[in-house]
Amino acid sequence: MWDKGRWDRGRRLAISSLILLLAEAALYFGVMATLFRLRRQFGLGVFVCALGSLHFLETYLAAIFYIQAPFGTALSPGSIVLFSGKLVMLLLLYIREDAEAVRQPIYGLLFGNFLIVALVMVMRQHNMVTPVPGQFPDFPFLDQMGGLMIWGTVLLFVDSILLILLYERSAAWLGRNVTARIWLSASAVLTLDQVGFYLALYTFVGSPIEVFYGGWIGKMVAAAIFALFTGAYLRWFESEGGKLELRPRLADVFDALTYRERYQALLEQTGRDGLTGLYDRGRLERQGPLRVADALAAGRSLSLILVDIDGFKDINDRHGHAAGDQILRLVGTKLSDTMRSTDSIYRYGGDEFVVLSEGLAHDAALAAAERVRRAVETLSAEERIPVTISIGIATCPGEATSLSELFASADARLYAAKSAGRNRVVGGPEARGARPSTGNPHSVPDLV
Ligand code: GH3
Ligand code: MG
Repeated sequence: MWDKGRWDRGRRLAISSLILLLAEAALYFGVMATLFRLRRQFGLGVFVCALGSLHFLETYLAAIFYIQAPFGTALSPGSIVLFSGKLVMLLLLYIREDAEAVRQPIYGLLFGNFLIVALVMVMRQHNMVTPVPGQFPDFPFLDQMGGLMIWGTVLLFVDSILLILLYERSAAWLGRNVTARIWLSASAVLTLDQVGFYLALYTFVGSPIEVFYGGWIGKMVAAAIFALFTGAYLRWFESEGGKLELRPRLADVFDALTYRERYQALLEQTGRDGLTGLYDRGRLERQGPLRVADALAAGRSLSLILVDIDGFKDINDRHGHAAGDQILRLVGTKLSDTMRSTDSIYRYGGDEFVVLSEGLAHDAALAAAERVRRAVETLSAEERIPVTISIGIATCPGEATSLSELFASADARLYAAKSAGRNRVVGGPEARGARPSTGNPHSVPDLV
């Protein structure tokens, strides 16, 4: 018989549990995304530790905490909110940082969980006392948790690698629509995960198929909601550009995620140039776009100073390659000594160097470059080899909206400096009238 009271009660219950789940997802995402956003101030460790501690809660909840789902079966908020949320957080970490950053929590969670299970196995060998009457550790429950943790982390390991590969692959179909890509890859991976999880439940406790559907619907809703949250976060709180523009090869992403890099890639990951000890071009290409995007978002100026040694081929030809190498090292040292410790100095390749100076407006960058130029000039007497450099400078905001534009601008000015006779610093038109007096007769301050 139709029982209207019972139906109303059921509907109220369904709505209130949906609202609660949504509130949990919003709270989870809000706090985690804030920690992620603050990574430049506090470091990524805060975000990663929070992610790790929640993993334990998630497993605990998956073992004991189920709620009545609107569509009949029981739902696990631990799995829907925390597990789905964690996967999307790992993807966010990948999108804004890189595969090397995201593999750290992936492997950390794997080994941490194995360690928990191993420690519990050893600890239960103790002779126990009960200082609080009636309080015993619940070993059967701990065993169940341990099993879930091992199974869950292995699944998570596979899930997170698949998620990132699929996200990259989906660029071919969905282009720059990041929200759709997150939604698609999260939905596919959470579906696979639910199959894996259900197979385990079916094998061990013979759970009915409704358990699969209930959990799957929950995860699909979670994938859509977290994709929307993440898309909105990326749009409003992390400026576009940077890694979003890059299209890495899938094989490279996989290699990085699974620590399968070759020796060369390992060297590259350290991001240092072997000869000068400065950062290398790879690091500039990884960090530079994010630096520019961050500076633009924060409205801070960022100057790119492009340095090239004059007539370096001649130095090599006349004095030999070893002397050339020594000059490269010395120019690197002069750059490090003259620029601020907060500036990043890269050997771009050959005899070219790049300095990224955050917070340095165009005129200040011109003055700093002029100091570098003079410092390098002093090498001529010290080394008894004439050494001079030419420099091109560009500054954002105003001149460029990406690293490549900034670089192109500085490169054009470097070319201008070379054409005008070398051993000089060339900046942009915005330096006109505000140029510091450097006493350098060769400088061409306002060549465009
Ligand atoms: P310009 O004033 O126009 O810059 O003339 P240049 O002779 O410096 O020309 P360019 O910048 O193109 O020359 C770069 C040279 O640097 C060419 C290459 O043989 C040399 N080089 C590149 N890498 C190294 C290195 O690691 N060690 C040494 N010794 N030479 C290098
Ligand atoms: Mg040169």
